[in-house]
Amino acid sequence: MAKPFKIIIVGGGIGGLAAAIALRKGDREITVIEQSSLHREIGATISLQPNASKIVDQWGLTPLLEAKGSMTDKGFQVYNLSGELQMKVPLSTQSKYGAERIVLHRVDLHEALKHRATSPEYPGKPVSIRVSSRVVSCSCEDGTVELEGGEVLSADLIVGADGIKSAIRRYVLDKEVPTLPTGHSAYRMVIPVSSLLDEAEFVKVIDPRESVTTMVMAHDCRLIMGPAQNSSIYSIVALVPDERMNETAANSSWTTEGDLAKMLQTFELFPDWAKVPLRLAEAAGLWQLRDLDPLPTWYKGRTILIGDAAHAMLPTQGQGASQSVEDAEALGAFFSHVEEGETWRREIESINKRVFDCRSTRASTIQAYSRQTAKPATEKGGIRINMNPAQFMDYNCKYDGAFDWERRQKASSGVENLMSNLTVGELKVEA
Ligand SMILES: Cc1cc2nc3c(=O)[nH]c(=O)nc-3n(C[C@H](O)[C@H](O)[C@H](O)COP(=O)(O)OP(=O)(O)OC[C@H]3O[C@@H](n4cnc5c(N)ncnc54)[C@H](O)[C@@H]3O)c2cc1C
Repeated sequence: MAKPFKIIIVGGGIGGLAAAIALRKGDREITVIEQSSLHREIGATISLQPNASKIVDQWGLTPLLEAKGSMTDKGFQVYNLSGELQMKVPLSTQSKYGAERIVLHRVDLHEALKHRATSPEYPGKPVSIRVSSRVVSCSCEDGTVELEGGEVLSADLIVGADGIKSAIRRYVLDKEVPTLPTGHSAYRMVIPVSSLLDEAEFVKVIDPRESVTTMVMAHDCRLIMGPAQNSSIYSIVALVPDERMNETAANSSWTTEGDLAKMLQTFELFPDWAKVPLRLAEAAGLWQLRDLDPLPTWYKGRTILIGDAAHAMLPTQGQGASQSVEDAEALGAFFSHVEEGETWRREIESINKRVFDCRSTRASTIQAYSRQTAKPATEKGGIRINMNPAQFMDYNCKYDGAFDWERRQKASSGVENLMSNLTVGELKVEA
């Protein structure tokens, strides 16, 4: 009897669960291996850009996300350090890109992805999730992973969706690849919208119920904030220069509890109304923001990296999760004809190559755009804002899935990329 196509996905984050959904088909045996118990807060809100919200809609997730209070973002409004409105960028992305930019709580996105991957109500055998299981090594050619404790599991295809600190990456590349401190850290907070409605100073400038992303920009600090969960919560990301405060010998973590008093001091010169949400926050997480330079490959043998493991990027284009969703869709598309593992074993590396060839230039370009957008927003001491949050939207959002992108790349001799051979910051993008 033919053996089913067996797939192991290492990591049950946004990329891993999205890959589980995209690959779920027929009697394929898909197992997601996740180191945590999955019963955790994944903190704060997240946006899915039109390029990714279109894909999750095709997977039937829109009603699940709407039931959890996902919101359509109507636009960006950008203020300077004097509190003056500098720019309004309306987002009517449905007509231009075929989908909306949506904002939601990370936990809600995660729950919806998990439901879609594991529930028997969808086509294909439900995906199994094995929690509290940490992968410590991988044999990329053999298609095996070893768990902490020594158990070895095998599959026809291994997907390394284990995030920026990926354990699989070193086996794919045959060396450790350092993640790079970017010079930025981010405080992240969520407060009730109801508490803001009592703050006259704030509501005379911003209606916190309106689905708009507000940015307040100084030279090297900025606030990015807006509502989520049916306007019941207000999310704030406060970007600051990285003091590398976590990098002591005793503490190698990149996330820590933020010091609220210190944060307020950092934003001292910001307009009073803009500081109101910071004052109301009872706690803040502090993330040191790291990314990766483009990797020479994402695959080896029967193993492929996706998501942050392959192309971690700064959050300044809001594309990290969206690019993971695109990777997942590409896996689903290019493996769609593989019915049965044994027969196809020899093909798997070439399909992995096809996924990499299709995805890598695009993901590297968006990594570069994310670094570009993180550069100081004004001249030192000035207030004129020299960045536009919509600058790269056409490139980022005009995306119709992997088959279409592959066709477009071939039609332009592999030089689809607007950024070919252009240097952005220290990142050189080659088409
Ligand atoms: C401040 C900030 C704001 C952001 N805002 C946005 C935004 O608005 N929009 C957006 O698109 N992106 C945003 N991002 C980026 C986004 O969060 C990531 O790009 C996205 O979560 C990547 O998904 P992933 O599945 O690749 O990795 P992760 O979500 O990190 O998931 C990796 C999973 O693998 C598990 N894992 C790790 N190692 C192992 C192992 N050895 N064995 C088993 N399991 C393992 C982890 O526990 C985790 O569950 C933001 C990031 C930051 C830091």
